[in-house]
Amino acid sequence: MKANKKLLIPLIAVLSAMALTLGLFALYREGVISPLLFRSTEGLHKADVGETIPYEPEDYCENLILVNGDNTLDPDFLPEVEFYKDTDVLMNSCIIDDYALLSAYINETYNKKLCVSSSYRTYEDQERVYNEEGPEIAALPGTSEHQTGLALDLYVHRFAGAGFIECEAGRYVNSYCQDYGFIIRYPEGAEDITGFSYEPWHIRYVGQPHAEIIAEEGITLEEYFDLFEIGEWYAYEDYLISRQDEDEITIPASCDGNGVIVSPDNTGHVFVTIDQSS
Ligand SMILES: [Zn+2]
Repeated sequence: MKANKKLLIPLIAVLSAMALTLGLFALYREGVISPLLFRSTEGLHKADVGETIPYEPEDYCENLILVNGDNTLDPDFLPEVEFYKDTDVLMNSCIIDDYALLSAYINETYNKKLCVSSSYRTYEDQERVYNEEGPEIAALPGTSEHQTGLALDLYVHRFAGAGFIECEAGRYVNSYCQDYGFIIRYPEGAEDITGFSYEPWHIRYVGQPHAEIIAEEGITLEEYFDLFEIGEWYAYEDYLISRQDEDEITIPASCDGNGVIVSPDNTGHVFVTIDQSS
């Protein structure tokens, strides 16, 4: 009897720990708690890449264009857009594949069709929206990142706008969109930085590993840009990243040019992202 009692306490401790783990995991799957609790990475850190050499990109990626009140787009800025699958929804070409993956996951897991209420808007479209809805609701023409084609306003049937977060699909998008290269561009409590209050429905493509780092750090796109000293190199998992002057692009001399993506950021700089696993 005594021996049984001795066993009882460790047994209760083990069962409690198991119940707690299962409970936390259930909350994690529901998107109630941050997936970051379950990740352990070294994070973004400065890296010594040795000698660097000039690099002339053959093409550019539009994934890291910063648009806000201070960094505006000209009326004639025209991104590379195409229709999403067989719809009449125009998106930046670089987001199509990743959005298709997110949309398919929502469809399969929650049996809900993920819909886009607004995607690419020209400067003139934004001007019209601004004139119709006013400054309280609509962004000033030139300050809306919808003009890049990288931003999407999402909803599912009966859950649109602020109500998007009230459904499982919306909570999933808000917790996991970084896995697909998107960020919640206007997170809660960051109005003084972004100029926008929380918009759970508005996702913005930035690609990898940028989306993952931004989510991991719990920061805005503006704060992400500020992490980089111009010309310095940083490492994150298999990636090297550097924010540089747009006229002096370099890559490490040890890099053979494979996996290099150059992204103008609308501040006179470019991001150079190198996937070393490719
Ligand atoms: Zn939007």
